[in-house]
Amino acid sequence: MSAVEISGLRVELGGKEILAGVDLTVAPGEWVTIIGPNGAGKSTLLRAVGGRVPYTGSISLFGTGAGRLRRREHARTVATVVQSPIVPAGMAVIDYVLLGRTPYIPALGRESAGDLGAVAEVLDRLDLTGFAERPLATLSGGERQRAFLARALAQGAPLLLLDEPTSALDIGHQQEVLELVDRLRGESGLTVLATMHDLSVAGEYADRLVLLAGGAVVASGPPRTVLTEELLATHYGARVRVIDGDQGPLVVPVRPR
Ligand code: ADP
Ligand code: MG
Repeated sequence: MSAVEISGLRVELGGKEILAGVDLTVAPGEWVTIIGPNGAGKSTLLRAVGGRVPYTGSISLFGTGAGRLRRREHARTVATVVQSPIVPAGMAVIDYVLLGRTPYIPALGRESAGDLGAVAEVLDRLDLTGFAERPLATLSGGERQRAFLARALAQGAPLLLLDEPTSALDIGHQQEVLELVDRLRGESGLTVLATMHDLSVAGEYADRLVLLAGGAVVASGPPRTVLTEELLATHYGARVRVIDGDQGPLVVPVRPR
């Protein structure tokens, strides 16, 4: 059974076709990263999988049609860190992370000891315990990004969608967050579907890359088959050199002659 099975996915927004028939399968425990130029439809693809945008075609999550999952069930199955999460004014980190437990808290009910325990554990994992009472808005970019991730992890869903999770981070925090996600993937079998702009980093962390351009998949496979000078020239209009790194290909932009 696949974690994600997408077939013939089409999304139309504002009278424009944004995704034009995408097929994509992600195995449980796999890390797949979607790359592609600005406006290719990467965020839209994650939104469709996360149930945040209307689509036609089919999306199955762990063998069940996504449309057949009820809201709570859906939220227990897939957790998303969107590209630019809204930072609720004045909200403390612990309360923000507790929002991740919403799908487990009964309507009109309160959080249980189990919910609070899950939040405490996630805060500890992400080195956020010392920030628990601080307003989210007062955290640095890197700390805040960890809080966004914490909220998603507190949701306890087996599928994690990450839309450019490290774009706002310096190179050190970028590595820290990605290593952490990878560790959690190893420990609890998380499946990760991400989008990323940094192609070298995308290739180092993903089992498989999917290159999206103009709303369609134009290449997909292990990083070394997708990160080629030809494909990147064709679809990004970029001149790059691809060199061998320890963990896969590294993409270096070079100035056009
Ligand atoms: P990416 O994440 O690859 O940069 P997006 O999925 O955000 O791309 O957007 C793909 C295209 O869809 C863009 O051209 C964008 O302008 C368009 N788009 C996204 N959301 C909407 C919307 N709500 N209405 C109209 N067009 C949209
Ligand atoms: Mg995007």
